[in-house]
Amino acid sequence: MALTTARALALLLTACAGAPLAAQPAAQPPPIPVPASPTLSMPPPADAVVLFGGADLSNWARTDGAPATWRLAEGAMVAGGGDIMSQEKFQDVQLHLEWMEPDMPQASGQGRGNSGVMLQARYEVQVLDSYGIDEPGTGDCGALYGQYAALVNACRPPLEWQTYDMVFRAPRFNPDGTQAEPARLTVLQNGIVILNNVLVKGINCGPLDPDLKNPGPLVLQDHGCPVEYRNIWIVHLPESGSDAYEGHRQ
Ligand code: MG
Repeated sequence: MALTTARALALLLTACAGAPLAAQPAAQPPPIPVPASPTLSMPPPADAVVLFGGADLSNWARTDGAPATWRLAEGAMVAGGGDIMSQEKFQDVQLHLEWMEPDMPQASGQGRGNSGVMLQARYEVQVLDSYGIDEPGTGDCGALYGQYAALVNACRPPLEWQTYDMVFRAPRFNPDGTQAEPARLTVLQNGIVILNNVLVKGINCGPLDPDLKNPGPLVLQDHGCPVEYRNIWIVHLPESGSDAYEGHRQ
């Protein structure tokens, strides 16, 4: 109490003397603790299409059509040998995948555990080791790259498995072919909402097919870092539900 009172008095005297008060640095909020994801190892729903279950790369090819050569390791696949795309294409979709960042203490920025999850081979959600940074930007992990930063840093440390659970709504088109509504995207990282129904501003990675009306595959980026992936599945979503009200069952 005495110290507090003395400090307050000193500040008052300083202020009264006309001297500027020293700027106090804004207190940094402590990092939000991110426990292990509640959807880690979540079994795929009955109507899911499993894109990678751990045993083989049969659902995948390089984006140039050549066989995928990512290394299999203990139920995961390790980035290396070029970007890969799923055989399965989709429009509206729920996606679950798990990934693990390598430990690259000598690397920094975009060189540190870079990969990416590209919806329809058009819209990249960044995968990067952004663990511990205070304010993730539009190039950091969880960003819709170059468009929207993650709302909070929900990263787990390198060598820990993490999850992305996404809901993607493809763009809508008028009968004359003009776009009626942009794509929308919601992303949970490790069970934490990091993108909240954002309006996608357009393609942000090299598309395999630039016609936004067409379904597209999932592409995983090989950016030269041994990022691992596992447990990848999607659920195709209908464009809308019924508008009829069934009423109560008796
Ligand atoms: Mg990337």
